[in-house]
Amino acid sequence: MGRMIALAAALTGALLLAWTGTRTPDPARGPSAPTAFSTEKALADIGQIARAPHPGGSAANARVRDYLTARMTALGLEPALQSGFGVETRPYRGATWVVGGQVENIVGVLPGLDRDKPALALMAHYDSVPASPGAADDATGVAVVLDVVRALKARGPPRRDVIVILTDGEEAGLLGARVFFRDHPLRSRIGLLINLESRGGGGRANMFQTGPDNGELISTFARTAVRPISNALAVFLYENMPNDTDFTVSNAAGVRGLNYAFVGRQFDYHSPTSTLANLDKGSVRHMGDQALAAAADLAFADALPGKSPDAVYSQTFGDHVLAYPAGGGWIVLLIAAGLITLAATRARRAGGLSLIDTARGAGAALFLLIAGALLLHLARKATGVGFGFMEQRPLLAQWGLWETTLALMGVGLLLLVPVLQARGGARWALAATALVAGLLCSVFGG
Ligand SMILES: [Zn+2]
Repeated sequence: MGRMIALAAALTGALLLAWTGTRTPDPARGPSAPTAFSTEKALADIGQIARAPHPGGSAANARVRDYLTARMTALGLEPALQSGFGVETRPYRGATWVVGGQVENIVGVLPGLDRDKPALALMAHYDSVPASPGAADDATGVAVVLDVVRALKARGPPRRDVIVILTDGEEAGLLGARVFFRDHPLRSRIGLLINLESRGGGGRANMFQTGPDNGELISTFARTAVRPISNALAVFLYENMPNDTDFTVSNAAGVRGLNYAFVGRQFDYHSPTSTLANLDKGSVRHMGDQALAAAADLAFADALPGKSPDAVYSQTFGDHVLAYPAGGGWIVLLIAAGLITLAATRARRAGGLSLIDTARGAGAALFLLIAGALLLHLARKATGVGFGFMEQRPLLAQWGLWETTLALMGVGLLLLVPVLQARGGARWALAATALVAGLLCSVFGG
């Protein structure tokens, strides 16, 4: 009985930790000092930028461009427009896919005390996709950049220049960033870059990309992060995915940095529903707190973080990031191996460990993983909703119901497998169920 209570308490505690770990901060409760990030001011800008869909080349985008130029002028950034023709080429089904277009980037500089030091750049894109007002993607990024500059100025002149790059034509193929890093004279002055993006309408801002040799950069990130969401594995996975942001272009140009995005509320991504009213205001504050903390540290630092071997790291709780050199992973493995050996020796002495039991336990765990994946995949297929970005929108519209269904199926399987295993005879039934689920998946195609 005592064991059951301990188990229930541990599970509830874990669930609670997971839940608080994904919540965005209260946007109304931020500090009000002029040196702090102001969610209110950022929201005012988002309201202006996201009044209507404003894809590159549209009259609506010209209005946004003029609004932002005025805002940057008021901040003392002396903005200038950079016009150019951006081209993206990429291999596509054996042929070459080419996208091109005229863009107008807005570029300004907050002058630092030492104009010769490598500069810090803040980047976000001001265009939206054709059908979406783009309150999240990327009016939020742009508005956060502007308020970070305001808060930096309130701290006095920074040590180095802070270059503000508001790119155009990102949605068409990173066209504005391509023009900037191909032609702009300031491109060679950038030492480090912070890019702000979104792939949804809510959730905490993940720091998901740094570029190579990030050891020293991660030290800065760990020192400054405000309730961060980031770990080395996620960064590694992202670098191996085909997804792109403007950061892809700066990274290819040899500029490292920090790339942030929030990914919650998927239904609002590139959607007509991405309005100020639907935006998670806590996400704006979370992104602002993060970006300002890192930007302030870098803008006022004596030297920017240099290149050093990649760090292994993860957020833990609160503001804490645990980071260590990759070699430290061996120590973690050694400790784990030691603990497993200790447990095995003690179990053997107590007479409760046989090789066949160990194999059976490992097999059951493997079965659970595979059967779980299979079952969830079958459920996904059974909805009849396709797998493309547009195709899955009917399912996203039902995400509350859908996620609850998946969670219940997962918990059901988790309870069923050990019970049936313990009873013995039902093993064949279990195997047959998995087999039938697999066959059904194939029948539904794929
Ligand atoms: Zn975007």
